[in-house]
Amino acid sequence: MELTEEILCSSAPLAAMYVCPDCRTLLVDFACPTCRSTYDVRDGIPILLPSDPRFKAATDIAATYDSIYRGHSDVWQNQGRTPQFLEYFASVLGQLPCTRFLEVGCGEGLLLGRLVKGEKFAIDLSIEALKQARMTASASLSVALAERLPFRSAQFDLIASVGVMEHFLDIDEATSEICRVLRPGGHYVALTHINLTLWERLRQKVSDYVLPWPQPGRFVRWLRARLAHRASAELVKQPIQNRYTIREAKAGLERHSLSVVDVLHTRRSPRPPLDPWVVVYVARRGAGR
Ligand SMILES: [Zn+2]
Repeated sequence: MELTEEILCSSAPLAAMYVCPDCRTLLVDFACPTCRSTYDVRDGIPILLPSDPRFKAATDIAATYDSIYRGHSDVWQNQGRTPQFLEYFASVLGQLPCTRFLEVGCGEGLLLGRLVKGEKFAIDLSIEALKQARMTASASLSVALAERLPFRSAQFDLIASVGVMEHFLDIDEATSEICRVLRPGGHYVALTHINLTLWERLRQKVSDYVLPWPQPGRFVRWLRARLAHRASAELVKQPIQNRYTIREAKAGLERHSLSVVDVLHTRRSPRPPLDPWVVVYVARRGAGR
């Protein structure tokens, strides 16, 4: 048995899973023996944010998300996460091997609550979101930043993020960290909202409503969904909003040790329950770092 498998199968106390987000030393009672930093545990949830000044914006962003989650009890639904979507996304994850799972940016934990396999961990910047998540899902939750994950290397065999990639402070730092904590051969499944190019938009509309035969009913349903999405986007405005094209998002993953093995979108057959402006990348971590 490989060392990583031994770690995966061990029943180490959960606190022993966390490392210092700045120097990656294993925390002892939520204190770093190397930096001497200590970390708060608030309402039973560890706050494991880095002290690196490059990420000082994280505190303000966390406060903004806290006020979003305090003001709305259904942020995920407002972002278009229907029960049908959750079932679909959970089934995509369910097909992949999973002993230990991490969700980056779990929000209110709706996806986390659907997953049945493996030991579950999740991070979010908002403690208010995590307080709601723990009512829904049984998982180890912490306030943390994707760019400085508080976990040892090669700890997870499955990592997911849903609509989070476009909100990272630094997509390269975050993806590099996700790669670090993913074991070789493990999978990262990332849903992101993308900017369709003019050609992609045209092709999408033709395949949706014109070919092989005109479908006015489907067009009306799309229009309704689009208007509802616009209304929700106004309701929940997120602090950082990057937009990538399908190719840019894929390249963002493959700049690291990840190979994109599948891309799920509405032009696939059978058509998955995804919005046309959403793409799901299934990426696999290679052997290198
Ligand atoms: Zn440290």
